[in-house]
Amino acid sequence: MQAEITLDTSLRYLKGVGPERHKILERLGLLTLEDLFYFFPRRYEDRSQVKKVPELVEGQKECVRGQISSRGIIRMRRGQILFRTVMTEGDKTLFCSWFNQPYMAKVFSPRSTVTFYGKVEREGKFFRMIHPEFELHAPESPKPNIHSGRIVPIYPLTENLSQKGLRQLIFYLITNHLSLPKESLPLAMRKKLDFKDAAFALRQIHFPGTFADLERAYRRLVFDEFFLMQTVVRMKRNQFQKENQGLSHKNGEETVGRLLESSGFTLTEGQNRTIDQVLSDMRRSRPMNRLVQGDVGSGKTIVSAAALAFTAANGFQGALMAPTEVLAQQHYFTVSRWLEPLGIACGFLAQNMKPQEKGDVLRRVLDGEIQILIGTHALIQDRVRFKHLGLVVVDEQHKFGVFQRAKLREKSGTPPHFLLTTATPIPRTLALTLYGDLDISTIRELPGGRQPVRTFWVEEGKRKEVYALLDSLLEKGRQAYVICPLIEEKDFSAKGVLTAREELASVFSHRRVGVLHGRMKSAEKEKVMRDFKERRLDLLVSTVVIEVGVDVPNATLMIIENAERFGLAQLHQLRGRVGRGTEESFCVLFSESPGEETAARLSAFEEMRGGFEIADKDLEIRGAGDIVGEKQHGLPQLRIGDLGKDMELLVLAREEATRLVDGDPRLGLPPNRQIREAIRRRYRLSEKKKLTVVA
Ligand code: ADP
Ligand code: MG
Repeated sequence: MQAEITLDTSLRYLKGVGPERHKILERLGLLTLEDLFYFFPRRYEDRSQVKKVPELVEGQKECVRGQISSRGIIRMRRGQILFRTVMTEGDKTLFCSWFNQPYMAKVFSPRSTVTFYGKVEREGKFFRMIHPEFELHAPESPKPNIHSGRIVPIYPLTENLSQKGLRQLIFYLITNHLSLPKESLPLAMRKKLDFKDAAFALRQIHFPGTFADLERAYRRLVFDEFFLMQTVVRMKRNQFQKENQGLSHKNGEETVGRLLESSGFTLTEGQNRTIDQVLSDMRRSRPMNRLVQGDVGSGKTIVSAAALAFTAANGFQGALMAPTEVLAQQHYFTVSRWLEPLGIACGFLAQNMKPQEKGDVLRRVLDGEIQILIGTHALIQDRVRFKHLGLVVVDEQHKFGVFQRAKLREKSGTPPHFLLTTATPIPRTLALTLYGDLDISTIRELPGGRQPVRTFWVEEGKRKEVYALLDSLLEKGRQAYVICPLIEEKDFSAKGVLTAREELASVFSHRRVGVLHGRMKSAEKEKVMRDFKERRLDLLVSTVVIEVGVDVPNATLMIIENAERFGLAQLHQLRGRVGRGTEESFCVLFSESPGEETAARLSAFEEMRGGFEIADKDLEIRGAGDIVGEKQHGLPQLRIGDLGKDMELLVLAREEATRLVDGDPRLGLPPNRQIREAIRRRYRLSEKKKLTVVA
């Protein structure tokens, strides 16, 4: 019995896909018919105008249709073989040539009707095209035009997959199976928003009749994508708010007050407001779900510590999770120094601790003896069990996926409060959209007494002067970082940490130079960070392992080697390691004669201060899709929509999703079931794929 073809059918069973091509398609991530339906063209070529030979214009890419008058193989010197077709119309002739492809002789018969597409060149008084694309037509039963005589889709390819082969396959799919993808939007909604139906959109996005239809198809598909995403976000939010047996915190203000006092800080207005919002969220009976956005150095750690102190004072445990081990260790260092004097026990957990040590920590967490557990994503491992988890803080949340968040959330029966922090500011609409299930606090200002970091982009010739600056700062008792893109130098294209360390240790032989990189054991890393923090090292040569969060206010110079290797956001994070105290700080970027774009970026960076400004610039240079990658929102990768470019559709989708979910929370009304079905399909499939990546 032949199995019925569905969207989930493997492409192996699609006509025209043999075992070999099946493998190639797999490489493009195309496994099922559905994948192929949603594999969209990268661009289009307008080949709708088909000319006769005499109408051809030299230098243009053109489509020409006619009958072949003759063809043949010419053997040339040095064993080259040339196959050539001749098409003569009126007094004009077109030669089409293929080198070393003798099998082409079998493709054309004399008098075949064919359309060629290629660049028109001159050869004496003749036209010629070299290796043109072509499409044969049987005169008696004209096949539909796929590769010519229309607006033609151009797909992303991979090795051993031809544009023509893939296009033909998708054409077959669209022609024969277009009834498989189900309509996801109710008719009334389509009418109201003036959208075409799904089948139209899918056909036209692949094989558009006109550019206007292509535009309509694009809008419909982008809307679909955003709308499903926004519906899920909204449903999650509502569901989260309904789980209202959260852990209401009744007291503990006094402990928080003592913490803030002992920190010695005069909090900024943003810090104060954020702490108020956090505490009042935690007093409520439903779980907090709040994101704190604040630039590098705006002082988010004390906010997290306040929340952790609050939960401990209420008899619960807190977890603080950081994206890197170096940062986790630093947090442990800072936060335990703040909390231990208040009688709150802190513990540390990392992936590669000794089993015995780890076992001990796990046991004390389960007992409730450790009140605040700080660590890396080791915290979401299944073996970690809390006694009474009251609060989870995820620091630098943009480095984690929602998937991981969800996992932490599952760790206890009653959902704990959630606090997320990020230094990557996202324009507001985007933030509201992506983090639709979150409340947001923003810390806009830096703590008082900070001066902007003086930033210079220099070339190698200035190294002496830079070292003189370094020397004078070290002399004053300050510390400095040197960042290199690599651990070990492979060729001479970029500096390695190990080489740089050697060099610096010989230039500054009377200084203590430390080194830090990702291949070191955690205990070694920890020791180096601690030595640097406690001034037993003057100079720290490191890779970007210190990119995020590291806080040593006495360090006032950041030198970045091969700065062209780093993006704006990353440079900003790195620069954020200095300028954390009241002393004047410097950031020096070394980069030799970079390309134009890099030069623009580096000199822009010299002028730029705030992360918000930098985020805007980044958005401009890279586009939103890139910045707000899958990692940040944790939802499936967008297949067609672009969060930056298609902002207007995003806002529309958000409005519609809100209206929908608030009116029919479980999407149970008959017209909405098709939406639910579409979500189920989209999210089930991507969840499966993601799991294999994450696990
Ligand atoms: P980030 O927001 O980047 O995580 P941190 O919490 O690491 O920033 O704070 C940056 C530096 O500023 C730290 O050295 C911290 O101790 C200090 N700091 C934080 N808040 C204040 C404040 N209100 N006044 C003075 N220094 C502060
Ligand atoms: Mg931080």
